[in-house]
Amino acid sequence: MAARRAGRNPESILLLAVSKTKPAEAVCAAALAGQRDFGENYVQEGVAKIAAVAALLPPGLPPLVWHFIGPLQSNKTRLVAEHFDWVHSVDRIKVAQRLAEQRPAALPPLQVCVQVNVSGETSKSGCAPEAAAELCRAVAALPRLRLRGLMAIPAPADDLESQRAPLARLRQLWEALRAEGLALDTLSMGMSHDLEAAILEGSTLVRVGTAIFGART
Ligand SMILES: *Cc1c(COP(=O)(O)O)cnc(C)c1O
Repeated sequence: MAARRAGRNPESILLLAVSKTKPAEAVCAAALAGQRDFGENYVQEGVAKIAAVAALLPPGLPPLVWHFIGPLQSNKTRLVAEHFDWVHSVDRIKVAQRLAEQRPAALPPLQVCVQVNVSGETSKSGCAPEAAAELCRAVAALPRLRLRGLMAIPAPADDLESQRAPLARLRQLWEALRAEGLALDTLSMGMSHDLEAAILEGSTLVRVGTAIFGART
């Protein structure tokens, strides 16, 4: 509905169901209803859930796609490289290098978004916008990784205009990097509270938890 209101084709926006803190049974119910992409924030919880869901689902379903979207410390990269399909939260070269070294050769390349801090001092994670071009080029040059796009988690805001400002900054940065020749096809922005603003600003992937699974306790 938000896509139609923004005059956009809903098929141009991927829905990532954020299942952090929710049990494997909730993921299975969504998967049986046709949802394919799931997002997790905490490494250990995510790895355990990926295994639990695989054991619960009936055979024959198309494979699920698991996205790691939480803060990533360098000592946790191996589990992410071994178990996830995507990472949205790469914000420094050292983490990208470790993911490249640790991605098993038998798996397809790990799909990577670079996380950018578009809200200034109110946010701690994400690289500075000025550092994004260099980090994207470094990711694109590493083996076993495939650079896909940019991700941001703006500081929460209540009205549509304040929500749109940082999302517009991310989109402008994404467009500038594409104009420089970086092959970015993904703009990962929009959560339950700013979904409408993100879709108006051109998001290609929204990460929705609460609006799908209900409030987290
Ligand atoms: C939890 C989380 C979401 C989903 O947030 P909701 O408000 O529940 O939709 C999206 N992205 C990231 C990075 C998150 O940590």
